[in-house]
Order: sequence, then C-alpha cells, then structure tokens
Amino acid sequence: MKKILLALLAATLMGAAATPEYSIDAIRYANAPKISVADMVMGGPKDQNVDAVFVIWLVRGGGKNILFDSGFHRPQWFRYFTVSDYLRPDKAVLLAGVNPEQVTDIVISHAHWDHMGGIDLFPKATVWIQKEEYRYYTTDVWQPGGEHDGIDPEDVRELVRLNTAGRLRLVDGDDVEIMPGIRAYTGARHTYASQYLRIAGSPPFVLASDNLYLYRNLTEHRASATFSEADWPANIKNQERMIELAGSPDRVVPGHDRMQFEKYPVKGRVAKIK
Ligand SMILES: [Zn+2]
Repeated sequence: MKKILLALLAATLMGAAATPEYSIDAIRYANAPKISVADMVMGGPKDQNVDAVFVIWLVRGGGKNILFDSGFHRPQWFRYFTVSDYLRPDKAVLLAGVNPEQVTDIVISHAHWDHMGGIDLFPKATVWIQKEEYRYYTTDVWQPGGEHDGIDPEDVRELVRLNTAGRLRLVDGDDVEIMPGIRAYTGARHTYASQYLRIAGSPPFVLASDNLYLYRNLTEHRASATFSEADWPANIKNQERMIELAGSPDRVVPGHDRMQFEKYPVKGRVAKIK
C-alpha cells in the first residue's frame, strides 16, 4: 500500500514538473490609432473608431522563453498602415527582461505581416506554425487568383529558410499539445489555418491573437475578420470554445485590444497577465 502511495506521489510530482506554471506578459510594441470598429468587429458600426495596439506575448516557464507572435519590422508596412509609438519587437522583449537570443520558441498564430514579420529578429528561436498555414502560404497562395493580402513575400522566404535550417516545427491540426501544458487550437480561419493557444495553469489562459480582435467581439458575439465571410459562424463558435478552454471570458486575451493594458498591472509597455 505504502509503495503504491509513493508511486502515486512520484507520478504526481513528475506530472507537476512536466507542466510548468507559466507566466504570461503582453508586450505592446506599437499602436494602431483610429481603426474602424467595422474592420475588427464584423457587422459593427462603420462610423466608430477604436485605438488598437500591436502586441507580442511572452510565455515563460520550464526554462523556455516562448513568444506568441513576433511582430513586424519591414519598412513597407509603415507606409501602408498608420503605426505610432513603435519599438522593434527584439527591443521590446528587453523591457520584459529577455534578450532576443534568449527567446527559445516563437509560436506564430498566422502568417499576416504584423504577426510573422519578426521571425528573423530572434536568432536562436524555433518557430512553430500550423502545417496547413505553412503549406498554403508557401505554395497555392502565390498562384494566379491567390489571395495574399497582408502576407509579406520576405516573411515567407524567411519561413522557408527556417525550415531548411531545421528551426521550424509544423503543428498538425486542432487541439495539439506543442509544449508541456501549451495546446494549439484551430477551427476558424482568420487566415487559411490560423491557430490560438491555451496555456495550462492555475488559472489557465487563452491567447487568441487575431482569432479574436477585441473583447468586444466576445461580448457582442461578433466575428473577427476571417478568411471568408462564410467562416463567421465558425469564428463565433470558436470564441465560445475559447471561453470554455480558459474557464472564463476574463481569461481570453484578444489580439489587438488595448484593454489588456488596462485590465492587468502595467509597467511601460508590458502588462503582467499572469
Ligand atoms: Zn491578422
């Protein structure tokens, strides 16, 4: 009996060691002033604006410094979009106490310029992306009729280079544990195969990125912009799933909402989510 209890205790302790209690920071590396609400909350008011933010998230635990999304830095995007208070993502992580060389992993939610455009700034990181996202944006999308708005060809070349350098990991589908206690989910299409993360812990959190632009999408049950309008119901269904996975709407963190820097304790550009 004693032996069984000891074995159970050992298994519990090993389990605890395998899933670290991660910390989560949101790092604001730029502002996106005056975005039309209708561009973020589908079916929302066209005559209302919202001051949005550009964010990368830093998840720390188990000896890893994991970024969820990587921001951007290529100059052309500053011409297409109004960006203010910009700090390059590899400088922004310093504010949370991490050197760019210390970033071990980058999980990319989707291939858009403001999420994948910083993968070349972190020289030691292994990059994670959905297998179908990788396949689609390195092949079909550049064929005649392909829809590649918001995808930077240079980012795609860097993605392929990382793969040939052995630094890319392809996540195969929905509900996949990619690191202890960190699971990737798909099920709606902000891009061809975008993903979001659940970070296990007490309590757990869901990092949604653009699969949920604003808190307002959750409360109004309206879709974020998606790959096609036909996908709006799937996006709304996934928002409900995010709430379930996080155990509370309060612990679902949207992609571009500046309220995450009001909701949690903030030091400069860094919000301590957990
Ligand atoms: Zn996007």
